[in-house]
Amino acid sequence: MKRRKQENVFSNKVQEKLNLLKKWLKQADQTVIFTGAGMSTEAGLPDFRSASSGMWNNINPLELASTEAMEHNRQQFIDFYRHRVEGLQSCQPHTGHRILSKWEAAGKIQSIITQNVDGFHHTAGNHRIEELHGTLRSCHCHNCGRSYPIERFMGEDLTCSCGGFIRPSVVLFGESLPEKALNQAAEESEAADLFIVLGSSLSVSPANYFPIEAKRNGAKLVIINKEETALDPEADLVINGEKIGSILRELDN
Ligand code: NAD
Repeated sequence: MKRRKQENVFSNKVQEKLNLLKKWLKQADQTVIFTGAGMSTEAGLPDFRSASSGMWNNINPLELASTEAMEHNRQQFIDFYRHRVEGLQSCQPHTGHRILSKWEAAGKIQSIITQNVDGFHHTAGNHRIEELHGTLRSCHCHNCGRSYPIERFMGEDLTCSCGGFIRPSVVLFGESLPEKALNQAAEESEAADLFIVLGSSLSVSPANYFPIEAKRNGAKLVIINKEETALDPEADLVINGEKIGSILRELDN
């Protein structure tokens, strides 16, 4: 009979790093997790690149995620976001998200700062989450700010009682990031003694601000990302080339 391939098999070098990280996780009083799109790929979530196939041929989805598109290319803007919401509805958080939720409940991590708009950390059961780029779980009136569940955006009528346009509650290119989440994330980064990046290329601001801020204030900086990032040289521990799900399962052992 064929033996099933063991799931979490790491090279000695990676295993050593994981053992060290397990020790740091035990020792730390304020552990902050910072997540990017790479946290959700194992949930099967379509990213911008896959959204650019099929109906998005010849259209750059990044251009649709903008205030410019919302004002001047409204139907495509609506189609694009409805497509993303539908993509979300067919996926769910993976084991890695659930482990982070368990860790928060156990006091092993204090908060999550995320660039993701999928709401998976909420669905998985985390409570202390700073969503830097907003969320696709709700929508609001662009004019008066009244909030609605995302189902309203998926329906026919996108006009608020005030006459304004009902749009998804994500931060579009051309808009500022939510002040409350930004301030809270800055405070948490400063207070952290362990700051762990999961699945972010750290290529955009302020994604690259928080890890540096944490490090400057004395935190150990850990970066776990499939590809190298520009901040790897600043980090105390870097793991490239591995999947977040396997890493979190191993750390949870
Ligand atoms: P990014 O695409 O720039 O970087 C993601 C990184 O994750 C990549 O470097 C990749 O190597 C790594 N990665 C992918 N799968 C991985 C896995 N299984 N294990 C380990 N690493 C993995 O994403 P970003 O840094 O979050 O920034 C890009 C922007 O895209 C953000 O503004 C974000 O809001 C937006 N975005 C969000 C979602 C979402 O809500 N899930 C989806 C697509 C894009």
